[in-house]
Amino acid sequence: MTTGVRLVVLGKQGAGKGTQCALLSQRYAVPHISTGDMLRAAVAAGSELGQQVAEVIASGSLVSDEIITAVVRERLSESDAMTRGFILDGYPRTVRQAELLEAIIADRPLDCVLDLEVPTDLVLSRLAGRLVCGDCAAIYSTDIPPVQVGVCDKCGGPVLPRKDDQKAEAIKARLDAYELETSPLVAYYTDQGLLEELDGTQSPDAVFESAKDAISRRQASKA
Ligand code: AMP
Repeated sequence: MTTGVRLVVLGKQGAGKGTQCALLSQRYAVPHISTGDMLRAAVAAGSELGQQVAEVIASGSLVSDEIITAVVRERLSESDAMTRGFILDGYPRTVRQAELLEAIIADRPLDCVLDLEVPTDLVLSRLAGRLVCGDCAAIYSTDIPPVQVGVCDKCGGPVLPRKDDQKAEAIKARLDAYELETSPLVAYYTDQGLLEELDGTQSPDAVFESAKDAISRRQASKA
């Protein structure tokens, strides 16, 4: 059995977080905890949480720190995350969330924080072509679509563009929120000595190799 890992992955929308988190989750056998996927699943299920957040997600602004932290706290208390670790994708997204996270995982600190660096013009073109499975959240694109148009290779679910990738205003709101609320986390985690910058313009395989190298260095330095 490989060692587990405890990671946060940062990066603008379209930086490749979902793709890298899926690869890393398989490599280290730890859950990929995507707050965006969890919220979209709640909206699709029509749960109380889903009803609370549906409009916020559609507009591209952020759900409150309290609501999202309650979701993450509960997920991190499950046995897979307690025993193996976790890869957090889309959380924390504000300095307040980072502080709340620190308290939740006080006795199981992060190995490191991976930051996928990609210029805005590239993320805009990636978002325009992004396709996602509505059932298992597998990511495709118009360049690399599923074998059968509109049908997920992994689970047979419907593969479509995300609603919030379709509206220019929602994209702008999400990128603005990233700049304003999330980019301060780069300095926050640099100060804590946890940040690992990765060049997210490389191919997915190349980014994955750099991510594994960074994690190995961190784990070796603690051993
Ligand atoms: P994502 O899939 O990470 O782009 O998230 C989609 C949407 O879910 C965001 O635009 C927010 O509305 C909401 N969301 C996801 N994670 C968070 C978070 N950590 N804090 C606040 N809102 C979030």
